[in-house]
Amino acid sequence: MYIGLTIVVVVALLILLARYAGHRAMRRRIQGRTLDDYARRHPEAVEMGKVYCFACGSSETTAQGVVSNAAGSLETHYCAQCGQELYVSATGKLADTLREAGVPRVNPGR
Ligand SMILES: [Zn+2]
Repeated sequence: MYIGLTIVVVVALLILLARYAGHRAMRRRIQGRTLDDYARRHPEAVEMGKVYCFACGSSETTAQGVVSNAAGSLETHYCAQCGQELYVSATGKLADTLREAGVPRVNPGR
């Protein structure tokens, strides 16, 4: 009689566990690579809200999506001139989730 309830509880726990693992993986992916981290590592390359490539000095960047779904998107920003990876940003609910997880300034647009 309780078997149905047990299955529901186990499935709910598995879903929670999967979500937690997903967030942790996402956090690992972005940790140390946000715009704040970039500014800390290369203070000369961020000026008055403008981001420059630390390698070649160009201010032109391109973004490439890593993850994009209903929860938001995760993008890696590269230098358009030399291709150097600069930083990672997130938008939407994904940005909120990462902020709650303690990843600073994941959305440089705000
Ligand atoms: Zn560059």
